[in-house]
Amino acid sequence: MAEKNVVSTGSTGEARPANGFDYAPAPESRSIVDIKASYGLFVNGEFVDGGGKAFKTINPATEEVLAEVAEADAADVDAAVKAARRAYDRVWSKLSGRERAKYLYRIARIIQERSRELAVLESIDNGKPIKESRDVDVPIVAAHFFYYAGWADKLEYSGYGGGNPQPLGVAGQVIPWNFPLLMLAWKIAPALACGNTVVLKPAETTPLTALLFAEICQQADLPAGVVNIITGAGETGRALVSHPDVDKVAFTGSTEVGKAIARAVAGTNKKLTLELGGKAANIVFDDAPIDQAVEGIVDGIFFNQGHVCCAGSRLLVQESIAEELLGRLKRRMSTLRVGDPLDKNTDIGAINSAEQLERIRELSAVGDAEGAERWSPPCELPQHGFWFPPTIFTGVSQAHRIAREEIFGPVLSVLTFRTPAEAVEKANNTPYGLSAGVWTDKGSRILKIANELRAGVVWANTFNKFDPTSPFGGYKESGHGREGGRHGLEGYLR
Ligand code: NAP
Ligand code: MG
Repeated sequence: MAEKNVVSTGSTGEARPANGFDYAPAPESRSIVDIKASYGLFVNGEFVDGGGKAFKTINPATEEVLAEVAEADAADVDAAVKAARRAYDRVWSKLSGRERAKYLYRIARIIQERSRELAVLESIDNGKPIKESRDVDVPIVAAHFFYYAGWADKLEYSGYGGGNPQPLGVAGQVIPWNFPLLMLAWKIAPALACGNTVVLKPAETTPLTALLFAEICQQADLPAGVVNIITGAGETGRALVSHPDVDKVAFTGSTEVGKAIARAVAGTNKKLTLELGGKAANIVFDDAPIDQAVEGIVDGIFFNQGHVCCAGSRLLVQESIAEELLGRLKRRMSTLRVGDPLDKNTDIGAINSAEQLERIRELSAVGDAEGAERWSPPCELPQHGFWFPPTIFTGVSQAHRIAREEIFGPVLSVLTFRTPAEAVEKANNTPYGLSAGVWTDKGSRILKIANELRAGVVWANTFNKFDPTSPFGGYKESGHGREGGRHGLEGYLR
């Protein structure tokens, strides 16, 4: 059976199922994006040179250098914070919510108009499949701006700020590389709706869509300094979050850096929200609709190459159906197409960086060494770029590192359970608490288990669903504060 579904990917990355039905390559055209040879920093409404240092961003699917990007030093960070402060004092905090909303609606519409350009650029700079950037990331980005535009003139009904909610001032925002534009939207849309101005630092490996967003701010005639984008690496982020004139720090990234930021902010008046890592349990009971569950498992761990903080990276399957479910899962995995992110048929794109690939390899090797059994479908990976095949580990126990640590790649650890109580016990046995999934036919069981899981988001009979109206965030080492929904306003209001 497995034979029939073998997928191999050629050196150009196109997937070829060996079942008689070859997929022709269906590449999205790159010609819609205009990548400049070099980019400056976006400060006070203009692109400026910055202190002089620069770094390169590459396409992780080919290792081709895409552009050179300015690296903001402490003086550049200071100039950006000053621009944001001026814009806050003179313009943005004085506008009515209705006026702010007009800008947000305008930005949302331009994002829709330029959606193909944004999606292609995101896939080139990040490595994610075009069908995800096109159908998931960019539409949710636009939806976020529309949603928070709607709040801008209704903040007194938000339940926060005692009927007269006030903005905080300047927000310093630092985001990771896995959903560059989406994380930008989660940060910028609520901040602006509430009347704050922002300085945002995208991740070093994925700065290009944030810089395109800066152009969109210009196109929308957003007043100068309301949004500032400073590129750079960890040091730039550190300078931003520790700048004394920043009133609010919003961070998404690793738990380790999150802890360092919490220490840097402790004892100051800065308000802090942290969205950190996760090790979500996806729990499948014996009465679950198995084929739907298999789709949910695949979506849970292979969406975005598994570079998802809320990924369902621990599969907890009831022992009585484990064999059947794993058989069907392996068959489904054999149809996943790994390769060119710009091909519309691609399911799994490139790993974002050499460092991340190394980390995935390392932790997977630990899985082997600790006695878990590794399986991947036969799959020939492209010659250049960073790739990792969809992988599952069975025979995993709670003590294994691959059951405890975030791999942040297309690697699923499979554990089994016998009773609902054991499932909950195992699911909660983690330092994280971001998300979880429950698959069962019984509504009452869904409600009971969801109540017992210590996770910010619990999906039932689905996984990885996002909507701007729904708050997202974690417990324990997954951070604190919520993004999205009415709750997402709280972090940006006094
Ligand atoms: P990371 O190393 O923590 O980086 C996140 C961002 O912080 C990047 O822009 C990074 O810059 C910057 N940074 C690094 N050191 C810093 C410091 N000392 N002070 C201020 N900023 C600093 O995380 P990553 O490896 O890029 O991203 C993957 C991690 O993010 C995973 O652990 C994942 O779980 C987590 N994540 C969580 C969520 C969520 O919503 N909870 C969402 C997405 C990702 P450079 O990378 O440019 O050096
Ligand atoms: Mg990093």
